[in-house]
Amino acid sequence: PQIQSSEETHVFISKLPQIPISNHLPLHTYCFENLAQYPERPCLIVGSTGKTYSFSETHLLCQKTAAGLSNLGVKKGDVIMVLLQNCPEFVFTFIGASMIGAITTTANPFYTSSEVFKQLGASKAKLIITQSQYVDKLRDPGQNNPKLGEDFTVITIDDPPENCLHFSVLSEANENDIPSISIDPNDPVALPFSSGTTGLPKGVILTHKSLITSVAQQVDGENPNLYLKSDDVVLCVLPLFHIYSLNSVLLCSLRAGAGVLLMQKFEIGSFLELIQRHRVSVAAVVPPLVLALAKNPMVDKFDLSSIRVVLSGAAPLGKELEAALRNRVPQAIFGQGYGMTEAGPVLSMSPAFAKQPILTKSGSCGNVVRNAELKVVDPESGTSLPRNQPGEICIRGPQIMKGYLNDAEATANTIDVDGWLHTGDIGYVDDDDNVFIVDRVKELIKFKGFQVPPAELEALLISHPNIADAAVVPQKDEAAGEVPVAFVVRSNGFELTEEAVKEFIAKQVVFYKKLHKVYFIHAIPKSPAGKILRKDLRAKLATTTTS
Ligand code: ATP
Ligand code: MG
Repeated sequence: PQIQSSEETHVFISKLPQIPISNHLPLHTYCFENLAQYPERPCLIVGSTGKTYSFSETHLLCQKTAAGLSNLGVKKGDVIMVLLQNCPEFVFTFIGASMIGAITTTANPFYTSSEVFKQLGASKAKLIITQSQYVDKLRDPGQNNPKLGEDFTVITIDDPPENCLHFSVLSEANENDIPSISIDPNDPVALPFSSGTTGLPKGVILTHKSLITSVAQQVDGENPNLYLKSDDVVLCVLPLFHIYSLNSVLLCSLRAGAGVLLMQKFEIGSFLELIQRHRVSVAAVVPPLVLALAKNPMVDKFDLSSIRVVLSGAAPLGKELEAALRNRVPQAIFGQGYGMTEAGPVLSMSPAFAKQPILTKSGSCGNVVRNAELKVVDPESGTSLPRNQPGEICIRGPQIMKGYLNDAEATANTIDVDGWLHTGDIGYVDDDDNVFIVDRVKELIKFKGFQVPPAELEALLISHPNIADAAVVPQKDEAAGEVPVAFVVRSNGFELTEEAVKEFIAKQVVFYKKLHKVYFIHAIPKSPAGKILRKDLRAKLATTTTS
């Protein structure tokens, strides 16, 4: 038998051919490149009011906003902060900033004052676009904090409180005031922060080139991997401050000429009603939304027949839940994308969404995107692994981040000298090029040296009819090191004992994956992007006395 040389690298590429990508352009030029083909088609639709902006109106408002930002002194290379729920002004500001070479850092409006100030300080933003209800957080006189009105300017999209400006200073500016500047493809355009699932959120520098490449990998080419049409209505309920929605929903739709239905927040009733009313055809979701669609009885009362594509991403989704969703929207193509802020963000996407669809296996996150390379390495030795062997996923291509903000060390630990970005996720590629994510390296529970991926147990738990939601975390154990324990939310009005849950799992798994304890709670803590906040549960565990 042949011995594999340690030099051999197993590199996986897309099944779809490489395509030319216009990543020499500035991002806004690229996004609106095909504007002349559909100037009057709806671009932004506001869910709460029904107000619609056509592509040409949207483009003009982006230009006006660019001019307005420039009038206020924002220059090329400056950072502005968008602290908004999904709304048209978010789009005008992000694209407008790009038009003058400025950089947008997006933040969660539900952040506490100190969280906002941390991001403000790190990004050095001098201007914040927000809603009046969040301004109080920006007045916090914490020591050494920059001061509203002195160190930074605040613009609100609604009635401006004291010392703030109204968004009309931007949207009513003269578009001819846009300064002429030149943009290099390697100039930053977006400064999103990672979700903070494993620690503090990290500032991620994305350039014009990285975002264009990522969008093109999804929607460009004769046979786009994610085929969006100009008569599509794409659901934008996931927060635009997270890169998944900003890139795969907004920027991809702008590029493809599809309409974007903006929803401020998820509430099952209005969510279903808006899908029905606006005939939503493409739904970008996260596992907690899939859970709601699969389990909430209200779903049967609405007509969801317009949905042709459901794309899930941002967190693991098991086969069982996928099957339950398929029953609810049988006409739709279901698939997953796998993303990471640092990766620009999309690493892999289901080829079932392509113009010429290729079916994927259930549970898979699709194939690596085109014009990129993916490999799987042994997390300890760094050796490249062949198909079907789980290891750390690495990605390389022009779409990945330039680096972390102000952190050369973290950047060097993440992107190696050969340009491979190490994701911290464990996964494998099967014989059909499907990428499967097992779990994060850091989340794997180690029972006597055996690896237990919490995502696998969570998928089994939520397949139980009396379980509404669940999360699995490690608990310290003298004999085994760590043991898996579960937090479980019972379905409304159902009885369920700890023993029944343990038995349900024990029947389906090898001995070391059995649950050692079950805690019943009312809700699983999750981030706005749909990630289980296991660190909160681990903290809860530390304060829970075991009986
Ligand atoms: P932080 O890096 O700050 O701890 P985060 O990693 O959750 O937070 P994001 O960049 O928003 O921040 O998320 C990327 C991660 O989300 C990936 O590394 C992966 O663990 C997970 N993820 C994304 N898509 C999928 C998917 N389809 N299946 C499983 N996991 C996914
Ligand atoms: Mg991360």
